[in-house]
Amino acid sequence: MKIAVLVKQVPDSTEITVDKNTGTLVRDGVPSIINPDDLAGLEAALALKDKDDSVEITVISMGPPQAKGMLQETIARGADHAVLLTDRRLGGADTCATSRTLAAALDKIGYDLIIAGRQAIDGDTAQVGPQTAERLNIPQVTYVDEIIELTPEYAVVRKALEDEEQILKVKLPAVLTTLSGMNKPRYMNCMDIVDSFNNPVQIMTYDDLVDILPQNEIGLAGSPTKVHRTFTKDVSAATETFDLPAQETAELIAKTLKDKQLITK
Ligand SMILES: Cc1cc2nc3c(=O)[nH]c(=O)nc-3n(C[C@H](O)[C@H](O)[C@H](O)COP(=O)(O)OP(=O)(O)OC[C@H]3O[C@@H](n4cnc5c(N)ncnc54)[C@H](O)[C@@H]3O)c2cc1C
Repeated sequence: MKIAVLVKQVPDSTEITVDKNTGTLVRDGVPSIINPDDLAGLEAALALKDKDDSVEITVISMGPPQAKGMLQETIARGADHAVLLTDRRLGGADTCATSRTLAAALDKIGYDLIIAGRQAIDGDTAQVGPQTAERLNIPQVTYVDEIIELTPEYAVVRKALEDEEQILKVKLPAVLTTLSGMNKPRYMNCMDIVDSFNNPVQIMTYDDLVDILPQNEIGLAGSPTKVHRTFTKDVSAATETFDLPAQETAELIAKTLKDKQLITK
Protein backbone atom coordinates (compact mmCIF):
# COMPACT_ATOMS: atom_id res chain seq x y z
CA MET A 1 0.00 0.00 0.00
CA LYS A 2 1.66 3.22 -1.19
CA ILE A 3 0.58 6.32 0.70
CA ALA A 4 1.72 9.69 -0.66
CA VAL A 5 1.53 12.59 1.78
CA LEU A 6 1.61 16.13 0.37
CA VAL A 7 3.26 18.64 2.68
CA LYS A 8 3.92 22.34 2.35
CA GLN A 9 6.50 24.31 4.28
CA VAL A 10 4.88 27.43 5.73
CA PRO A 11 6.02 30.34 7.89
CA ASP A 12 5.17 29.87 11.56
CA SER A 13 2.10 32.09 11.43
CA THR A 14 2.22 32.96 15.13
CA GLU A 15 5.37 34.91 14.43
CA ILE A 16 4.66 36.43 11.02
CA THR A 17 3.84 40.09 10.40
CA VAL A 18 2.62 42.05 7.41
CA ASP A 19 4.64 44.95 6.01
CA LYS A 20 2.19 47.88 6.35
CA ASN A 21 3.65 49.72 3.33
CA THR A 22 3.87 46.89 0.82
CA GLY A 23 1.15 44.60 2.21
CA THR A 24 3.44 41.58 1.80
CA LEU A 25 4.32 38.98 4.44
CA VAL A 26 7.57 39.67 6.25
CA ARG A 27 9.23 36.26 5.96
CA ASP A 28 12.81 37.28 6.87
CA GLY A 29 13.92 35.56 10.05
CA VAL A 30 10.54 33.84 10.45
CA PRO A 31 10.94 30.15 11.28
CA SER A 32 9.34 27.67 8.91
CA ILE A 33 7.23 24.72 9.99
CA ILE A 34 5.36 21.85 8.37
CA ASN A 35 1.83 23.03 7.63
CA PRO A 36 -0.22 21.77 10.64
CA ASP A 37 -2.95 20.02 8.59
CA ASP A 38 -0.19 18.19 6.67
CA LEU A 39 1.58 17.11 9.87
CA ALA A 40 -1.72 15.58 11.00
CA GLY A 41 -1.99 13.81 7.63
CA LEU A 42 1.53 12.44 8.03
CA GLU A 43 0.73 11.24 11.56
CA ALA A 44 -2.42 9.52 10.24
CA ALA A 45 -0.30 7.74 7.61
CA LEU A 46 2.31 6.75 10.22
CA ALA A 47 -0.44 5.32 12.44
CA LEU A 48 -1.59 3.17 9.51
CA LYS A 49 2.00 2.05 8.97
CA ASP A 50 2.28 1.13 12.67
CA LYS A 51 -0.59 -1.35 12.11
CA ASP A 52 0.42 -2.62 8.66
CA ASP A 53 4.03 -3.25 7.57
CA SER A 54 3.07 -3.17 3.90
CA VAL A 55 2.33 0.57 4.13
CA GLU A 56 5.05 2.61 2.43
CA ILE A 57 4.93 6.37 2.95
CA THR A 58 6.36 8.90 0.50
CA VAL A 59 6.19 12.55 1.48
CA ILE A 60 6.18 15.04 -1.40
CA SER A 61 6.64 18.78 -1.32
CA MET A 62 6.99 21.37 -4.05
CA GLY A 63 8.89 24.42 -2.98
CA PRO A 64 12.23 26.16 -2.69
CA PRO A 65 15.43 24.23 -1.79
CA GLN A 66 15.07 25.24 1.89
CA ALA A 67 12.11 22.83 2.17
CA LYS A 68 14.64 19.96 2.19
CA GLY A 69 15.16 20.30 5.96
CA MET A 70 11.43 19.94 6.60
CA LEU A 71 11.34 16.81 4.43
CA GLN A 72 14.31 15.32 6.28
CA GLU A 73 12.25 15.82 9.42
CA THR A 74 9.41 13.77 7.95
CA ILE A 75 11.85 10.87 7.43
CA ALA A 76 12.96 11.21 11.06
CA ARG A 77 9.29 10.96 12.03
CA GLY A 78 8.98 7.67 10.16
CA ALA A 79 8.29 8.31 6.45
CA ASP A 80 10.02 5.85 4.11
CA HIS A 81 10.87 8.35 1.37
CA ALA A 82 10.73 12.10 0.84
CA VAL A 83 10.74 13.92 -2.48
CA LEU A 84 11.36 17.63 -2.99
CA LEU A 85 10.06 18.99 -6.25
CA THR A 86 12.16 22.07 -6.75
CA ASP A 87 13.08 24.05 -9.81
CA ARG A 88 13.10 27.76 -10.63
CA ARG A 89 10.84 26.94 -13.60
CA LEU A 90 8.19 25.71 -11.12
CA GLY A 91 8.37 28.89 -8.98
CA GLY A 92 5.51 31.42 -8.95
CA ALA A 93 2.94 28.62 -9.22
CA ASP A 94 -0.62 29.29 -8.06
CA THR A 95 -2.80 26.41 -6.87
CA CYS A 96 -3.72 25.52 -10.46
CA ALA A 97 -0.09 25.03 -11.55
CA THR A 98 0.88 23.52 -8.18
CA SER A 99 -1.77 20.78 -8.35
CA ARG A 100 -0.92 20.09 -11.99
CA THR A 101 2.76 19.67 -11.08
CA LEU A 102 2.05 17.58 -7.97
CA ALA A 103 -0.31 15.34 -9.97
CA ALA A 104 2.40 14.76 -12.59
CA ALA A 105 4.93 13.91 -9.86
CA LEU A 106 2.41 11.56 -8.22
CA ASP A 107 1.92 9.81 -11.56
CA LYS A 108 5.67 9.19 -11.70
CA ILE A 109 6.03 8.16 -8.04
CA GLY A 110 2.89 6.00 -7.79
CA TYR A 111 0.19 5.95 -5.10
CA ASP A 112 -2.74 3.98 -3.70
CA LEU A 113 -3.82 6.71 -1.31
CA ILE A 114 -2.93 10.42 -1.31
CA ILE A 115 -3.20 12.47 1.87
CA ALA A 116 -3.05 16.27 1.72
CA GLY A 117 -3.72 18.85 4.37
CA ARG A 118 -7.09 20.57 4.15
CA GLN A 119 -5.50 24.01 3.93
CA ALA A 120 -2.11 25.71 4.07
CA ILE A 121 -1.91 28.37 6.79
CA ASP A 122 -0.19 30.87 4.49
CA GLY A 123 -1.82 30.46 1.06
CA ASP A 124 -5.04 29.43 2.76
CA THR A 125 -7.00 28.48 -0.33
CA ALA A 126 -7.70 24.79 0.47
CA GLN A 127 -7.62 24.16 -3.28
CA VAL A 128 -4.53 22.03 -3.86
CA GLY A 129 -5.85 18.73 -2.45
CA PRO A 130 -9.19 18.78 -4.32
CA GLN A 131 -7.55 20.04 -7.53
CA THR A 132 -4.98 17.25 -7.39
CA ALA A 133 -7.79 14.67 -7.12
CA GLU A 134 -9.54 16.24 -10.11
CA ARG A 135 -6.38 16.20 -12.19
CA LEU A 136 -5.76 12.53 -11.37
CA ASN A 137 -9.46 11.80 -11.96
CA ILE A 138 -9.83 9.98 -8.63
CA PRO A 139 -12.34 10.44 -5.78
CA GLN A 140 -11.69 12.75 -2.85
CA VAL A 141 -12.94 13.23 0.70
CA THR A 142 -12.16 16.56 2.34
CA TYR A 143 -12.20 17.50 6.05
CA VAL A 144 -11.18 14.04 7.21
CA ASP A 145 -10.61 13.79 10.95
CA GLU A 146 -10.19 10.02 11.21
CA ILE A 147 -9.15 7.21 8.90
CA ILE A 148 -11.18 4.40 10.39
CA GLU A 149 -10.27 1.56 8.05
CA LEU A 150 -7.90 1.07 5.16
CA THR A 151 -7.95 -1.90 2.79
CA PRO A 152 -6.30 -2.26 -0.63
CA GLU A 153 -9.69 -1.51 -2.23
CA TYR A 154 -11.22 1.22 -0.08
CA ALA A 155 -10.88 3.50 2.94
CA VAL A 156 -13.53 4.28 5.56
CA VAL A 157 -13.14 7.79 6.95
CA ARG A 158 -14.91 10.23 9.19
CA LYS A 159 -15.55 13.64 7.64
CA ALA A 160 -16.04 16.50 10.09
CA LEU A 161 -18.63 19.09 9.12
CA GLU A 162 -19.61 22.18 11.08
CA ASP A 163 -22.52 20.60 12.92
CA GLU A 164 -22.43 16.94 11.91
CA GLU A 165 -20.08 14.20 10.85
CA GLN A 166 -20.27 11.67 8.06
CA ILE A 167 -18.77 8.20 7.87
CA LEU A 168 -17.82 7.63 4.24
CA LYS A 169 -16.40 4.70 2.33
CA VAL A 170 -14.23 5.77 -0.59
CA LYS A 171 -12.79 3.62 -3.35
CA LEU A 172 -9.00 3.73 -3.76
CA PRO A 173 -7.00 5.36 -5.15
CA ALA A 174 -8.35 8.54 -3.60
CA VAL A 175 -7.30 11.84 -2.08
CA LEU A 176 -8.11 12.62 1.55
CA THR A 177 -7.60 16.08 3.02
CA THR A 178 -6.90 16.05 6.74
CA LEU A 179 -7.43 18.40 9.66
CA SER A 180 -4.92 19.43 12.29
CA GLY A 181 -6.29 18.34 15.63
CA MET A 182 -7.33 14.93 14.32
CA ASN A 183 -4.36 13.44 16.18
CA LYS A 184 -1.25 14.33 18.11
CA PRO A 185 1.85 14.20 15.90
CA ARG A 186 4.59 12.02 17.35
CA TYR A 187 7.92 13.43 18.45
CA MET A 188 11.17 12.62 16.72
CA ASN A 189 13.84 11.10 18.91
CA CYS A 190 17.55 11.89 18.55
CA MET A 191 18.47 8.52 17.01
CA ASP A 192 15.72 8.82 14.39
CA ILE A 193 17.01 12.27 13.46
CA VAL A 194 20.58 10.97 13.09
CA ASP A 195 19.40 7.87 11.18
CA SER A 196 17.27 9.94 8.83
CA PHE A 197 20.43 11.28 7.18
CA ASN A 198 21.12 7.77 5.83
CA ASN A 199 17.96 8.22 3.80
CA PRO A 200 18.42 11.52 1.94
CA VAL A 201 15.60 13.54 0.41
CA GLN A 202 15.20 12.79 -3.28
CA ILE A 203 15.20 15.84 -5.54
CA MET A 204 12.91 16.02 -8.57
CA THR A 205 13.01 18.84 -11.09
CA TYR A 206 10.92 19.77 -14.09
CA ASP A 207 13.27 17.61 -16.20
CA ASP A 208 11.71 14.55 -14.52
CA LEU A 209 8.22 15.63 -15.59
CA VAL A 210 8.86 17.24 -18.97
CA ASP A 211 7.53 14.22 -20.90
CA ILE A 212 4.05 14.55 -19.33
CA LEU A 213 3.81 18.25 -18.40
CA PRO A 214 4.15 21.04 -20.98
CA GLN A 215 6.22 24.05 -19.87
CA ASN A 216 3.34 26.50 -20.43
CA GLU A 217 1.37 24.65 -17.71
CA ILE A 218 3.88 25.13 -14.88
CA GLY A 219 5.22 27.97 -12.73
CA LEU A 220 4.18 31.55 -13.39
CA ALA A 221 3.27 30.89 -17.04
CA GLY A 222 0.85 28.14 -16.03
CA SER A 223 -0.78 30.20 -13.27
CA PRO A 224 -3.97 32.07 -14.21
CA THR A 225 -4.24 33.76 -10.76
CA LYS A 226 -3.14 37.41 -10.82
CA VAL A 227 -2.75 39.15 -7.45
CA HIS A 228 -3.68 42.83 -7.87
CA ARG A 229 -3.29 43.95 -4.27
CA THR A 230 -2.75 42.49 -0.82
CA PHE A 231 -3.84 44.21 2.38
CA THR A 232 -4.43 43.52 6.04
CA LYS A 233 -8.08 42.86 6.80
CA ASP A 234 -9.71 45.25 9.24
CA VAL A 235 -11.18 42.99 11.89
CA SER A 236 -12.83 45.66 14.03
CA ALA A 237 -16.59 45.25 14.55
CA ALA A 238 -19.31 47.58 15.77
CA THR A 239 -19.47 47.56 19.58
CA GLU A 240 -22.75 47.47 21.50
CA THR A 241 -22.73 48.50 25.14
CA PHE A 242 -25.26 47.16 27.67
CA ASP A 243 -25.76 48.26 31.25
CA LEU A 244 -27.82 45.45 32.80
CA PRO A 245 -28.11 43.67 36.13
CA ALA A 246 -25.87 40.59 36.56
CA GLN A 247 -28.61 38.00 35.88
CA GLU A 248 -29.74 39.67 32.62
CA THR A 249 -26.10 40.15 31.55
CA ALA A 250 -25.46 36.43 32.01
CA GLU A 251 -28.62 35.57 30.04
CA LEU A 252 -27.67 37.95 27.23
CA ILE A 253 -24.16 36.47 26.98
CA ALA A 254 -25.57 32.92 26.91
CA LYS A 255 -28.14 33.85 24.23
CA THR A 256 -25.53 35.59 22.07
CA LEU A 257 -23.16 32.60 22.23
CA LYS A 258 -26.06 30.27 21.41
CA ASP A 259 -27.20 32.43 18.45
CA LYS A 260 -23.66 32.27 17.10
CA GLN A 261 -23.67 28.48 17.63
CA LEU A 262 -20.65 28.72 19.92
CA ILE A 263 -22.53 26.82 22.64
CA THR A 264 -25.44 24.43 22.28
CA LYS A 265 -27.24 24.63 25.62
C1 LIG B 1 10.56 27.32 -6.32
C2 LIG B 1 9.23 27.41 -5.62
C3 LIG B 1 9.01 28.44 -4.69
C4 LIG B 1 7.77 28.53 -4.01
N1 LIG B 1 7.60 29.54 -3.12
C5 LIG B 1 6.41 29.67 -2.47
C6 LIG B 1 6.21 30.74 -1.54
O1 LIG B 1 7.10 31.57 -1.31
N2 LIG B 1 5.01 30.83 -0.89
C7 LIG B 1 4.01 29.92 -1.14
O2 LIG B 1 2.92 30.04 -0.51
N3 LIG B 1 4.16 28.91 -2.02
C8 LIG B 1 5.32 28.76 -2.70
N4 LIG B 1 5.50 27.73 -3.60
C9 LIG B 1 4.45 26.69 -3.75
C10 LIG B 1 3.12 27.01 -4.47
O3 LIG B 1 3.09 28.22 -5.10
C11 LIG B 1 2.03 26.88 -3.41
O4 LIG B 1 2.27 25.66 -2.77
C12 LIG B 1 0.60 26.81 -3.88
O5 LIG B 1 0.22 27.98 -4.51
C13 LIG B 1 -0.27 26.41 -2.68
O6 LIG B 1 -1.36 27.21 -2.41
P1 LIG B 1 -2.02 27.25 -0.94
O7 LIG B 1 -0.97 27.67 0.01
O8 LIG B 1 -3.26 28.07 -1.03
O9 LIG B 1 -2.38 25.71 -0.63
P2 LIG B 1 -3.71 25.03 -0.09
O10 LIG B 1 -4.58 24.65 -1.22
O11 LIG B 1 -4.34 25.79 1.04
O12 LIG B 1 -3.03 23.68 0.49
C14 LIG B 1 -3.79 22.52 0.79
C15 LIG B 1 -2.86 21.35 0.92
O13 LIG B 1 -2.29 21.04 -0.35
C16 LIG B 1 -0.96 20.57 -0.16
N5 LIG B 1 -0.02 21.52 -0.78
C17 LIG B 1 -0.19 22.83 -1.05
N6 LIG B 1 0.92 23.34 -1.61
C18 LIG B 1 1.80 22.32 -1.69
C19 LIG B 1 3.13 22.21 -2.15
N7 LIG B 1 3.76 23.25 -2.67
N8 LIG B 1 3.75 21.00 -2.08
C20 LIG B 1 3.10 19.92 -1.56
N9 LIG B 1 1.85 19.97 -1.08
C21 LIG B 1 1.21 21.15 -1.16
C22 LIG B 1 -0.72 20.52 1.35
O14 LIG B 1 -1.05 19.24 1.81
C23 LIG B 1 -1.70 21.57 1.86
O15 LIG B 1 -2.08 21.37 3.19
C24 LIG B 1 6.71 27.61 -4.28
C25 LIG B 1 6.93 26.61 -5.24
C26 LIG B 1 8.17 26.51 -5.88
C27 LIG B 1 8.38 25.41 -6.88
